[in-house]
Order: sequence, then C-alpha cells, then structure tokens
Amino acid sequence: MENQACIFCKIINHEIPSSIITENNDFLVIKDIYPQAPIHYLILPKRHIINVKECTSQDVSLLGNMLLLTKELSKDLSAPQDYRIMLNNGYSSGQRVFHMHLHFLAGKQMSE
Ligand code: 5GP
Ligand code: ZN
Repeated sequence: MENQACIFCKIINHEIPSSIITENNDFLVIKDIYPQAPIHYLILPKRHIINVKECTSQDVSLLGNMLLLTKELSKDLSAPQDYRIMLNNGYSSGQRVFHMHLHFLAGKQMSE
C-alpha cells in the first residue's frame, strides 16, 4: 500500500521526477540522486515496505526477484560486469529512506 509521506512512493507514482533505468510490474529502477559510484541505481519495490525486517515468508518471491533483477541490470555493464548490492535495514545501518531499496553499484574498483 502506498505511503503518502514516502518519497520513493512519490517517485514510483511519478509525482516526483527521477531518472528511470527500467521498470516492471513489481519494481522501478532509478538512478541514485547522490551516486557513490559511476553507476548507482536503486531498485524499488513498487509496494511500500519498510525494509527486510518487515518482510515475511509471503515476500520470498519479491526478495528473490529483486536479487535476480540485478543480474538483468548487470548485462548492460561493460566488462567485467561486476557489481555490489547493498540493502540497509534500520537507521543505525544507514537507512535514511524507509521504503525498501536495493543499492546497485558498479563501474569502479570497490574497496574490500
Ligand atoms: P539509504 O541510506 O536509505 O539506504 O539510501 C537512500 C538513498 O536514496 C541514498 O543513496 C540517497 O542518495 C537516495 N535518495 C534520497 N532521496 C532521493 C531522491 O529524491 N531521488 C533519488 N533518485 N534518490 C534519492
Ligand atoms: Zn514508500
């Protein structure tokens, strides 16, 4: 269900502009407004859900499909098509937007 105060719900509903990479029934992929790498996308489930801590067994396919979508995104990367994915869960972990999103980072040598 949409959360009226949520910035990512507003982006999903096109009430706030964003750079859209791709979209399907369940997800919107956008460019992060403050990129931490040459390629920094955010994979947003269209359904408002706070983070993995709120997920249940009913969300198994959502979570799996979110991971598999990263594989599709990687096909458009130049070699070596490697990427980092990151999902913050809760304020202390660094989460600042409380609509679940998977960070997809690529295009540079990442620190170990
Ligand atoms: P978090 O810290 O919650 O894991 O990540 C939130 C991310 O959302 C940050 O990387 C931040 O740059 C990005 N972000 C915040 N507001 C907006 C926005 O309005 N548009 C886009 N495209 N990204 C945003
Ligand atoms: Zn939301």
